[in-house]
Amino acid sequence: MIKFHPTEELLVKYTQGELDASLCLVIGTHIDMCPVCANTVKDIEEQVAKRALNSGSRFANTDIDNMLEQIMNSSAPEAMLREPALKEVMLEGKQFKVPPSLGRLGSRLGPWSKVPGSVWRAPVDIEGQHNVNLIYMAAGASVPEHTHRGSEATLVLNGSFADEFDNYGDGDFIYLGDSHRHSPQTAQEDCLTLAWLDAPLQFTSGIARLLNPFSSLFFR
Ligand SMILES: [Zn+2]
Repeated sequence: MIKFHPTEELLVKYTQGELDASLCLVIGTHIDMCPVCANTVKDIEEQVAKRALNSGSRFANTDIDNMLEQIMNSSAPEAMLREPALKEVMLEGKQFKVPPSLGRLGSRLGPWSKVPGSVWRAPVDIEGQHNVNLIYMAAGASVPEHTHRGSEATLVLNGSFADEFDNYGDGDFIYLGDSHRHSPQTAQEDCLTLAWLDAPLQFTSGIARLLNPFSSLFFR
Protein backbone atom coordinates (compact mmCIF):
# COMPACT_ATOMS: atom_id res chain seq x y z
CA MET A 1 0.00 0.00 0.00
CA ILE A 2 1.24 3.47 -0.88
CA LYS A 3 2.21 5.47 2.23
CA PHE A 4 3.69 8.65 0.73
CA HIS A 5 1.92 10.96 -1.72
CA PRO A 6 2.58 14.37 -3.30
CA THR A 7 1.15 17.18 -1.15
CA GLU A 8 -2.17 18.68 -2.23
CA GLU A 9 -0.24 21.85 -3.10
CA LEU A 10 1.89 19.88 -5.58
CA LEU A 11 -1.19 18.17 -7.03
CA VAL A 12 -2.88 21.55 -7.54
CA LYS A 13 0.23 22.90 -9.30
CA TYR A 14 0.36 19.71 -11.39
CA THR A 15 -3.27 20.12 -12.40
CA GLN A 16 -2.77 23.80 -13.24
CA GLY A 17 0.30 23.08 -15.37
CA GLU A 18 2.56 25.10 -13.07
CA LEU A 19 5.29 22.48 -12.70
CA ASP A 20 8.08 21.80 -15.15
CA ALA A 21 7.55 18.90 -17.55
CA SER A 22 10.13 16.69 -15.82
CA LEU A 23 8.50 16.96 -12.38
CA CYS A 24 5.11 16.43 -14.07
CA LEU A 25 6.38 13.12 -15.40
CA VAL A 26 7.26 11.91 -11.88
CA ILE A 27 3.98 13.11 -10.33
CA GLY A 28 1.95 11.83 -13.31
CA THR A 29 3.56 8.42 -12.91
CA HIS A 30 2.67 8.39 -9.21
CA ILE A 31 -0.94 9.25 -10.15
CA ASP A 32 -0.91 6.31 -12.60
CA MET A 33 0.02 4.06 -9.67
CA CYS A 34 -2.17 5.70 -7.00
CA PRO A 35 -6.01 5.66 -7.10
CA VAL A 36 -6.12 8.04 -4.08
CA CYS A 37 -4.21 10.81 -5.87
CA ALA A 38 -6.02 10.08 -9.15
CA ASN A 39 -9.28 10.89 -7.31
CA THR A 40 -7.82 14.01 -5.70
CA VAL A 41 -6.68 15.28 -9.11
CA LYS A 42 -10.14 14.61 -10.54
CA ASP A 43 -11.70 16.62 -7.67
CA ILE A 44 -9.27 19.50 -8.21
CA GLU A 45 -10.01 19.54 -11.94
CA GLU A 46 -13.75 19.63 -11.27
CA GLN A 47 -13.34 22.50 -8.80
CA VAL A 48 -11.20 24.44 -11.25
CA ALA A 49 -13.73 23.88 -14.02
CA LYS A 50 -16.65 24.97 -11.78
CA ARG A 51 -14.78 28.07 -10.66
CA ALA A 52 -14.05 28.98 -14.26
CA LEU A 53 -17.73 28.56 -15.16
CA ASN A 54 -18.92 30.64 -12.20
CA SER A 55 -16.48 33.43 -12.86
CA GLY A 56 -17.96 33.95 -16.32
CA SER A 57 -14.61 33.49 -17.98
CA ARG A 58 -14.08 32.71 -21.65
CA PHE A 59 -14.98 29.12 -20.81
CA ALA A 60 -18.51 30.14 -19.82
CA ASN A 61 -20.10 28.82 -22.99
CA THR A 62 -18.09 25.62 -23.11
CA ASP A 63 -19.68 22.56 -21.62
CA ILE A 64 -17.92 21.17 -18.61
CA ASP A 65 -16.92 17.88 -20.23
CA ASN A 66 -15.06 19.64 -23.00
CA MET A 67 -13.24 21.79 -20.52
CA LEU A 68 -12.25 18.84 -18.37
CA GLU A 69 -10.94 17.14 -21.47
CA GLN A 70 -8.85 20.19 -22.31
CA ILE A 71 -7.37 20.24 -18.82
CA MET A 72 -6.63 16.52 -18.92
CA ASN A 73 -4.92 16.79 -22.29
CA SER A 74 -2.86 19.80 -21.29
CA SER A 75 -1.03 17.85 -18.56
CA ALA A 76 0.74 15.46 -20.96
CA PRO A 77 3.45 16.95 -23.16
CA GLU A 78 2.11 16.50 -26.67
CA ALA A 79 5.34 15.28 -28.24
CA MET A 80 5.43 12.46 -25.72
CA LEU A 81 2.13 11.04 -26.95
CA ARG A 82 3.74 10.32 -30.32
CA GLU A 83 6.66 8.37 -28.84
CA PRO A 84 6.84 4.63 -29.44
CA ALA A 85 5.69 2.70 -26.39
CA LEU A 86 8.11 1.12 -23.97
CA LYS A 87 6.44 -1.49 -21.81
CA GLU A 88 9.36 -2.58 -19.73
CA VAL A 89 12.89 -1.61 -18.84
CA MET A 90 15.74 -4.12 -19.09
CA LEU A 91 18.77 -3.84 -16.85
CA GLU A 92 21.41 -6.36 -15.78
CA GLY A 93 19.32 -9.17 -17.23
CA LYS A 94 16.25 -8.10 -15.23
CA GLN A 95 12.99 -6.91 -16.65
CA PHE A 96 10.91 -4.21 -15.00
CA LYS A 97 7.33 -3.38 -15.88
CA VAL A 98 6.77 0.36 -15.99
CA PRO A 99 3.52 2.33 -15.49
CA PRO A 100 1.68 3.65 -18.59
CA SER A 101 3.00 7.22 -18.31
CA LEU A 102 6.55 5.84 -18.59
CA GLY A 103 5.46 3.52 -21.38
CA ARG A 104 5.66 6.47 -23.76
CA LEU A 105 9.29 7.34 -23.02
CA GLY A 106 10.65 5.35 -25.95
CA SER A 107 13.84 6.89 -27.28
CA ARG A 108 13.88 9.50 -24.52
CA LEU A 109 15.47 7.00 -22.17
CA GLY A 110 19.26 7.31 -22.40
CA PRO A 111 21.85 4.56 -21.85
CA TRP A 112 22.44 3.04 -18.41
CA SER A 113 25.65 3.90 -16.63
CA LYS A 114 26.98 2.57 -13.34
CA VAL A 115 27.74 4.93 -10.50
CA PRO A 116 29.62 4.03 -7.27
CA GLY A 117 27.72 1.87 -4.75
CA SER A 118 25.94 -0.73 -6.96
CA VAL A 119 23.74 2.00 -8.40
CA TRP A 120 22.83 2.50 -12.06
CA ARG A 121 21.17 5.44 -13.73
CA ALA A 122 19.58 6.18 -17.09
CA PRO A 123 18.67 9.78 -17.95
CA VAL A 124 15.28 10.71 -19.37
CA ASP A 125 15.35 13.47 -21.98
CA ILE A 126 12.49 15.87 -21.29
CA GLU A 127 12.56 18.90 -23.55
CA GLY A 128 16.35 18.76 -23.71
CA GLN A 129 16.78 18.57 -19.92
CA HIS A 130 18.16 15.58 -18.07
CA ASN A 131 17.06 16.17 -14.50
CA VAL A 132 14.90 13.02 -14.38
CA ASN A 133 16.67 9.69 -14.11
CA LEU A 134 15.66 6.10 -13.69
CA ILE A 135 17.81 4.97 -10.77
CA TYR A 136 18.35 1.30 -10.07
CA MET A 137 19.82 0.18 -6.75
CA ALA A 138 20.88 -3.47 -6.50
CA ALA A 139 20.08 -5.35 -3.27
CA GLY A 140 22.42 -4.16 -0.51
CA ALA A 141 23.27 -0.92 -2.34
CA SER A 142 23.65 2.49 -0.75
CA VAL A 143 23.81 6.02 -2.05
CA PRO A 144 26.15 8.08 0.15
CA GLU A 145 24.52 10.71 2.38
CA HIS A 146 23.78 13.79 0.37
CA THR A 147 21.93 17.03 0.46
CA HIS A 148 20.69 19.15 -2.42
CA ARG A 149 20.99 22.74 -3.46
CA GLY A 150 17.43 22.31 -4.66
CA SER A 151 14.67 19.76 -4.23
CA GLU A 152 14.50 16.03 -4.96
CA ALA A 153 11.44 13.95 -5.83
CA THR A 154 11.73 10.17 -5.84
CA LEU A 155 9.07 7.69 -6.93
CA VAL A 156 9.48 4.00 -6.19
CA LEU A 157 8.53 2.03 -9.32
CA ASN A 158 9.51 -1.44 -8.17
CA GLY A 159 11.06 -2.82 -4.97
CA SER A 160 11.90 -0.89 -1.80
CA PHE A 161 14.52 1.28 -0.14
CA ALA A 162 15.02 2.98 3.20
CA ASP A 163 16.67 6.14 4.50
CA GLU A 164 17.03 7.73 7.94
CA PHE A 165 13.37 8.72 7.92
CA ASP A 166 11.39 5.68 6.73
CA ASN A 167 10.96 2.68 4.41
CA TYR A 168 9.52 3.20 0.96
CA GLY A 169 7.80 0.74 -1.39
CA ASP A 170 6.00 0.58 -4.75
CA GLY A 171 4.29 3.87 -5.63
CA ASP A 172 5.68 5.88 -2.71
CA PHE A 173 6.51 9.48 -3.64
CA ILE A 174 9.15 11.25 -1.56
CA TYR A 175 9.74 14.98 -1.92
CA LEU A 176 12.72 16.47 -0.09
CA GLY A 177 13.53 20.15 0.10
CA ASP A 178 17.01 21.64 0.09
CA SER A 179 17.49 21.36 3.86
CA HIS A 180 17.13 17.57 4.03
CA ARG A 181 20.04 15.19 4.16
CA HIS A 182 19.58 11.49 3.63
CA SER A 183 21.36 8.31 2.60
CA PRO A 184 19.09 5.91 0.68
CA GLN A 185 19.87 2.21 0.84
CA THR A 186 18.38 -1.12 -0.12
CA ALA A 187 18.33 -4.32 1.97
CA GLN A 188 17.52 -7.79 0.54
CA GLU A 189 15.36 -6.36 -2.23
CA ASP A 190 16.55 -4.24 -5.16
CA CYS A 191 14.78 -1.05 -6.16
CA LEU A 192 13.94 0.88 -9.32
CA THR A 193 13.02 4.53 -8.84
CA LEU A 194 12.25 7.55 -10.95
CA ALA A 195 14.10 10.54 -9.51
CA TRP A 196 13.83 14.24 -10.24
CA LEU A 197 16.37 16.83 -9.13
CA ASP A 198 16.27 20.56 -9.62
CA ALA A 199 19.97 21.01 -8.73
CA PRO A 200 23.03 18.76 -8.39
CA LEU A 201 23.46 16.48 -5.37
CA GLN A 202 25.97 17.49 -2.73
CA PHE A 203 27.48 14.55 -0.87
CA THR A 204 28.01 15.51 2.76
CA SER A 205 29.64 12.75 4.74
CA GLY A 206 33.19 11.44 5.10
CA ILE A 207 34.83 9.95 2.07
CA ALA A 208 31.64 10.38 0.03
CA ARG A 209 32.49 14.06 -0.22
CA LEU A 210 35.16 12.93 -2.68
CA LEU A 211 32.30 11.78 -4.88
CA ASN A 212 31.02 15.30 -5.41
CA PRO A 213 32.53 15.53 -8.88
CA PHE A 214 30.40 12.49 -9.75
CA SER A 215 27.22 14.31 -8.82
CA SER A 216 27.20 15.54 -12.40
CA LEU A 217 26.39 11.92 -13.29
CA PHE A 218 22.97 12.40 -11.72
CA PHE A 219 22.34 15.83 -13.12
CA ARG A 220 23.50 17.42 -16.33
ZN1 LIG B 1 -0.88 9.17 -4.14
